Amino acid sequence: MEMTKCPKCGSTEIDRGKTMSSTWSPKYISAKQKMFSQAPEVVAFVCLNCGYLEFYTDTEKVRQNLKE
Ligand SMILES: [Zn+2]
Repeated sequence: MEMTKCPKCGSTEIDRGKTMSSTWSPKYISAKQKMFSQAPEVVAFVCLNCGYLEFYTDTEKVRQNLKE
């Protein structure tokens, strides 16, 4: 999935990146999964008009984690 248009203001001026913490890139971990080894990275999109942020992650990896 990608954000191509801002759902808040309608702008199509979208930039793609990631979020950063001081220690590591954020990963997505389901509340249901038991193992934390394969947590997929979070991809972020920001609207350059209003600053709205939207996050996506790898759904195949999330599905795999739910099976383990
Ligand atoms: Zn916007």
